[in-house]
Order: sequence, then C-alpha cells, then structure tokens
Amino acid sequence: MEKKIHDEINSRRTFAIISHPDAGKTTITEKLLYFGGAIRDAGTVKGKKSGKFATSDWMEIEKQRGISVTSSVLQFDYAGKRVNILDTPGHEDFSEDTYRTLMAVDAAVMMVDSAKGIEPQTIKLFKVCRMRGIPIFTFINKMDRQGKEPLELMEELEEVLGIQSYAMNWPIGMGKEFLGIYDRYNDRVELARPEGDERFLPITEEGGLAVEHSMTATSYYQQALEDVMLLNEAGNEFDEERVAKGDLTPVFFGSALTNFGVQTFLETFLQFAPPPQPRKSRDGEEVEPESEIFSGFIFKIQANMNPAHRDRIAFVRIVSGEFERGMTVNVPRLSKNFKLSQTTQFLADDRETVNEAVAGDIIGLYDTGNYQIGDTVVGGKSNFQFEALPQFTPELFVRVAAKNVMKSKQFHKGILQLVQEGAIQYYKTLHTEEVILGAVGQLQFEVFEHRMRAEYHVEVQMETMGSKVARWIENEEDVKESMAGQRALLVKDRYDRKVFLFENDFAMRWFQDKFPDIRLYNLL
Ligand code: GDP
Repeated sequence: MEKKIHDEINSRRTFAIISHPDAGKTTITEKLLYFGGAIRDAGTVKGKKSGKFATSDWMEIEKQRGISVTSSVLQFDYAGKRVNILDTPGHEDFSEDTYRTLMAVDAAVMMVDSAKGIEPQTIKLFKVCRMRGIPIFTFINKMDRQGKEPLELMEELEEVLGIQSYAMNWPIGMGKEFLGIYDRYNDRVELARPEGDERFLPITEEGGLAVEHSMTATSYYQQALEDVMLLNEAGNEFDEERVAKGDLTPVFFGSALTNFGVQTFLETFLQFAPPPQPRKSRDGEEVEPESEIFSGFIFKIQANMNPAHRDRIAFVRIVSGEFERGMTVNVPRLSKNFKLSQTTQFLADDRETVNEAVAGDIIGLYDTGNYQIGDTVVGGKSNFQFEALPQFTPELFVRVAAKNVMKSKQFHKGILQLVQEGAIQYYKTLHTEEVILGAVGQLQFEVFEHRMRAEYHVEVQMETMGSKVARWIENEEDVKESMAGQRALLVKDRYDRKVFLFENDFAMRWFQDKFPDIRLYNLL
C-alpha cells in the first residue's frame, strides 16, 4: 500500500459519544468541532437550536421532531488526525440505530453529568461498547456546578458499570468554587480562571505546585492534593493496553459549557484512541484496514432524506482500503455489483460529495432500496461478508394491523421490507399470527408508521403493548403453551424462534421460579 494511504488511514479516529440525554453531548460536540475549525461559532450543531429546519429538505418526520440528520457524522481535523464523530441519538430519538452506530466506531467517549452520575441510557450504551471491547474514555461534565464528590463518581463507575478507572485529572473545587483541574497526566494544574496568560502551572515531582499561587492556600486545593495522593497510592495504575481493551477507562473532569478541560481532553484522547481497527469476516478472518481491497459494512439506513426523491442513504463504515468515486462494488448478499457514483459525506453544516475516503471513514450511499443493515460492500472480485450485526433486545411493543383489510398485501410487503432493512423487529402471536412489532425506542414505531404511509400507501393501526422484557429460550422443545399467560406472552420472532414477552422483571423472576428448567436468555 502506498505510504500516503497508509498515513491517511492511520490518521483516522472514529468514535461515538455515549450519554444519557442532557449530560452535555451536544455541548461538547460543538466545542470539539470548534477546536477542529469545522464551525466558527459553537452552537450550530443541532438544527433545533439554530432553526435550520425551516430551509432544510430532510425527511418530514425528522422536521416534525427536530432531529438533525446533518449531525449523523461529523468530521474535522485536529493535530494531524482526522476525527469522525458518529452521532448516537438518545431520548425520544433512541432506536436500534443508536446501538448499531456503536458497531461502527473504534472508541467511545462516555459523558457523565457530575450531579447525576451514571444514568440508565448510559448503562445501556456502555454495555454494547463493553461487549465489543473498545476503549471507553469518560468525561465527567458540569464541574462548574455543584455535583457529587469526585471520589464517589469514580466509585460509581466501578460499582454500577463494573469498569475500573484511572483519573487523568482531578477537579480542584466545583461549582462556584471550581478553581481548575489537577492534570495528573500532563503534570500541571490547569486554571479555570487564569490571571493573565497563566493558564497552566507546572507541578513538581512530589506533586506540589512548582510556582507560587494564591490557590494553594485554599481548602479546595488541599483536598484535591490529598485525593490525588490517595489515588497515587491506592488507585489503579494507568495501563495503555488495558485502556485499549476497554478494561480501564481514563477519566477526565471538566465543563463543556464553559469550555474548560475540553481541549486537554481532546488532545489526550487523540493520543490514546486507536486508529481504524480490523474486523472479522464470517469466515473468521481479520480484514485489515490497510488491505488493498476496499470493504465496508452498512450500519444505518436513513430513509427519505429528500422527500422529493424518496431516496435513502445507507451509511457505510469503511473497514479497509480506499473508496474512490465511481468505483464498482459487490454486495455479496445479493451477488450483485453496484457502481458507487452518488455518495455523500456529512460535515457539520452542509452535505459534500466525497471523492476519497479511507478505512475509518463513513460514507453515505444513495440507495434505491437495495441495501440492508449489516450488508457488506466490497471492491474488486472479493465476496466475503463481515460478521452479522447483533440483534438487540427490544423493549417496546405494539400490535399492528392495516386499517383497511383490502391493503393487507401491501401491509405485509411493507413490513417485510422494513424488517429486513432493520428499521423494526417483527414478532407474531402463535396461532392467530397477529403482527407484533418490537423496538428499542418509540421513534422506530413513528418512522414505521410514516414510511408505511409514504412508501407503501398503507395506513396502519397500532395498539401499544407498552414495555416488555423479551427473553429467548435455549431449550424451546421444553416450552409448553400452558406456561404462557397474560404476564408472559409467548410469541415467535421472524426466524420462528419462540420468545416470551414478560410484563416486567418481576413477572420474569416469577416464571423462572415456577419453571426453573426453562433456560431463558436475552440478546444484547
Ligand atoms: P445532550 O442532551 O447530552 O446533547 O446535552 P446538551 O449538550 O444539550 O446539554 C444539556 C444542558 O446542559 C444544556 O442546557 C447545556 O447548556 C447544559 N450543559 C452542558 N454542559 C454543561 C456544563 O459543563 N455545565 C453546565 N452548567 N451546564 C452544561
């Protein structure tokens, strides 16, 4: 491989920011883009904040809900690295796409609100990252506000998430008394409110300040110093290998809003975040990023981005080689070739057509209905496929039917396609074969309803079943229909596997007590 491409690939850093809504993901993203020179003024990432939707032509439902598609992938250059940030929508926008995006990154940044600690959505997203064994960097945000004690937050990481941590820096005070951070990694103190140019103060080998400063007289500084000494003695050691495997999370304290500690975080993060990683094919071979052959996989399909054209965009994470505009690729699932002339790459504000992209980058392919989530695209004559993307355990269910029974054929056709595409999960009752849809987020049902109307001209009737605990069964042959009931519905999934939908955790435990021989398991 040419040196130029080797350098290009190794400059890529592709990651996602995971957090519970309101932890500050948008705020820190804006600051990162600002440092990368991708935006002039921090505050333009989300359409809903800048009112961009009035003029944009994105899918109607997204307009209604104020979701920005332009922020699906953000790219900027910093210190010789090309950074790709993949958006992981949360809250009402939470869907399987959010999980699948985590399949396409090489690292994750976990944002934690210092006052709230580890929250539910963070736990869910963290688990997926942990399962993949990718490095996870923690940013504890909102230090400019009164929050939990830093030691308590470190303990929470270990107790709630079960991951060991290493504090890269330590806050000196917090809230109104937030004086700065003691930067263990760079051996310096970074002042929150520097006097003149004195932003960084060096520290001595013993750990004290090397210069005189009024801050040292405060109890906040004394406390921070004491904590750091404790961490030095009793805390985990920094270990790059364990960070790379996702066994140890480096922790940074800061404040995205006041832009404190963000740049230091970015620089340190880029130092330890990995370049594009190899990926396993279904034959168990590792496909190396620097392979001569272009390859990638589709992790997300965004429908009807432009209502006038009814097209969709399939997002491809490039795993190996180099993409060239106009190249012909093979989709092994279909044994079919496609010429990739229309591609698009997403930048902070406008869409730009890509000419060149390499392993680690994300490209958007115009799709007229050919691709499915999880598809491999490969260049040349190769026809290997990457390992399938995991199916995630849905938590929300609806019963669905066509409003007009005459439309039942289109109804089933639409469902089949949307299910294959990965937009929604399909279940049915055992004998009556009523259709039940499963999702990890409410948005998926709304998108489903919208697309059934717009693309298949079918009005659907949805009856909510609320949240359920879905469990698959190892020994299906031992399941009897009499075991099912109101609180433990027995259904089949799209592969005809039996699945119990329990009313809640309590109902599941009750079932397990009653039928201890039935071995239940959940997907991711
Ligand atoms: P997201 O939902 O994770 O994208 O969160 P946002 O970035 O939209 O932030 C949620 C709220 O927290 C907004 O009102 C932000 O201004 C605020 N916020 C974000 N970072 C900080 C911070 O460092 N300090 C304080 N005090 N507020 C913050």
